[in-house]
Amino acid sequence: MRITLLLGLLTISLMSTAQSIQPSPSELTKHITYLASDAMKGRGTGSKQNDQAAKYVAKQFKKYGLKPMGTKVYEQEFIAKVKRVVVKDSIRQAKNIIGFLDNGAEYTIIVGAHFDHLGEGRQGGSKAEKPEGKIHNGADDNASGVAGMLEIARYFSGNKVREAYNFLFIGFGAEELGLLGSKHFVNNPTIPLATVNFMTNMDMIGRYNPDRGVGIGGYGTSSQWPQVFDGIKGTVRFFTDKAGSGGSDHGSFYAKSIPVLFFHTGGHDDYHQPTDDIEKVDVVSEAEILKIHLQLIEKAMSFPKLDFSEVAS
Ligand SMILES: [Zn+2]
Repeated sequence: MRITLLLGLLTISLMSTAQSIQPSPSELTKHITYLASDAMKGRGTGSKQNDQAAKYVAKQFKKYGLKPMGTKVYEQEFIAKVKRVVVKDSIRQAKNIIGFLDNGAEYTIIVGAHFDHLGEGRQGGSKAEKPEGKIHNGADDNASGVAGMLEIARYFSGNKVREAYNFLFIGFGAEELGLLGSKHFVNNPTIPLATVNFMTNMDMIGRYNPDRGVGIGGYGTSSQWPQVFDGIKGTVRFFTDKAGSGGSDHGSFYAKSIPVLFFHTGGHDDYHQPTDDIEKVDVVSEAEILKIHLQLIEKAMSFPKLDFSEVAS
């Protein structure tokens, strides 16, 4: 009787542990609400709020027990030169935030998302008619991707499994100024690039449209992706795209001959506008997209290090 009860309690507690580390709409909402609030003023590179966003990411990494893998604890600082000068400053302090999940493995999977956005419309890139002084909240672009990256970090750091690969989680800075954070990282890597299995990037994954499905790019960057994708199913639709570069930070890794994946729910009228707000983000679908992402990572870990293929352009 007592043993049965204990076993029952143990089963329930194991089940609730397994349940609670799954990507959760409420966790996603928490992260996106923080990052995309008006108080964060659009997380423009060089701003106090951009710094605050970086600190927020570092704080979560610490909470998940990730090992700091920047050059200054979790931070890897770099100088962002703003080419398209909208204000006088053309040089800004920027940073990546980097955390490592050490499984004692030979190779590492990099999971990334950029945390910067367009600030108050003075750094270029806005599609608004008069962008100056307007907060570009960037809820989809890319608080949604950062929240996704944090949920994947929470999953692998909390699942009590020692995976066959290590994980490096990176919040990139200055993506909106030309992928500057990821370019800085691949040219100044804090782990040897030769030990990277593949890199997976999330940029704008909060606007799931069932008619389109979520796009997963990078399908052509390893001859083994088709085998990895085989049999992967979820509650949301997805389609694959071969391209290894284009539009976001995974392109910097592809340029270094590293296989990549890129998750993206597609463009919309609020893209790079002050109206890219949290109310329009679909966190329930985002959590389902992340479950597909987790399946793909888990499946890829059953393979040896993936080979790299160049995609014909
Ligand atoms: Zn973006």
